[in-house]
Amino acid sequence: VKQITFAARPSGLPDVSVFRFDEVELPPLQEGDVHLKGLYYSVDPYMRGRMNDVKSYSPPFRLEQPMEGGVVAEVVESKDSRFRPGDTVLGPYLPWAQEFVIGGDKFQKIDTSLAPPSYFLGILGMPGLTAYFGLLDIGKPKAGETLVVSGAAGAVGLVVGQLGKQLGCRVVGIAGTDDKIRMLKEEYGFDEAVNYHTPDLAAEIGKACPDGIDIYFDNVGGKVTDAVFKHLNFFARIPLCGQISSYNATSEPVGPRIQPVMLTLSILMQGFIVRNYGARFAEGIQYLAPLVKSGKLKFTETVVEGFEKLPDALLGLFAGKNTGKMIVKA
Ligand code: NDP
Repeated sequence: VKQITFAARPSGLPDVSVFRFDEVELPPLQEGDVHLKGLYYSVDPYMRGRMNDVKSYSPPFRLEQPMEGGVVAEVVESKDSRFRPGDTVLGPYLPWAQEFVIGGDKFQKIDTSLAPPSYFLGILGMPGLTAYFGLLDIGKPKAGETLVVSGAAGAVGLVVGQLGKQLGCRVVGIAGTDDKIRMLKEEYGFDEAVNYHTPDLAAEIGKACPDGIDIYFDNVGGKVTDAVFKHLNFFARIPLCGQISSYNATSEPVGPRIQPVMLTLSILMQGFIVRNYGARFAEGIQYLAPLVKSGKLKFTETVVEGFEKLPDALLGLFAGKNTGKMIVKA
């Protein structure tokens, strides 16, 4: 079967040469092993961080080992009594191989009556939970407040914006193309949306937020965040979720000092990693799943067909090629 091996650590924006396609043989199953066939593979911005050999919340990818990430797979054969052929399962760190043999403790069954299987990599998976915990726990939205979310048309951002609307906020999204801006307003109920490629971003954000900004859910950092900072209100909260604009930086990203603004406006900013909330994932799913099932929370995916497209799909995240969750279908 085909496997995608992590072959070289990139500097700056990676290209496909950091990956290598290998043909590998599947080992025989030992007691406790399961043979899985990948159905849907997740590509996520955090994977860029794991390509660097630095200490972070996830260990670096190991050279000459398969890439790994969230995968929805089907059980082909099982020597673990909890799984039967035909079961659909999800693991957060499964190898980028078309099929593989792995211990049954590395994944869990998913309830495909709740939503299509790939949604467990998106709105009912890591990105959806990130939106839920970041917005509710750190953002603490109140009806009537203005919520701005960057990376608004992506996997996390779409959920943040819709949850904000449901909680009574005025919601403003920031994203990178006019099509995404239109979609946010026309299909996802955002009150306003701003394309960050506009020449005077701070002014556009000001127009979209006449009462200032009470919550800024930051997915991107950089210049977008600098512009948002000009419009923050007293006691604004900032769930610091992602900084994708700097993931490929080759020098230290610099910008205006934000401490004076944070001080004078009593702003609270908190970084978080969704894994911190591992003990509460069931609560998050319980909140999100009925909303998804009833259609009160919408979601979209960019589905790239073909296992061999995984590297392109991952790199596409850094060029904004996705709307909603970027998924690769085997
Ligand atoms: P998305 O689905 O939002 O995909 C990434 C998007 O980022 C692209 O579509 C693109 O949209 C935008 N983007 C790319 N480069 C830039 C740039 N230089 N400046 C501004 N925007 C850019 O990804 P996710 O929803 O999965 O993740 C969103 C963020 O949340 C990421 O930063 C990610 O690392 C973070 N995250 C954090 C988690 C946590 O636990 N803290 C968990 C999950 C995600 P556009 O066309 O608008 O530019």
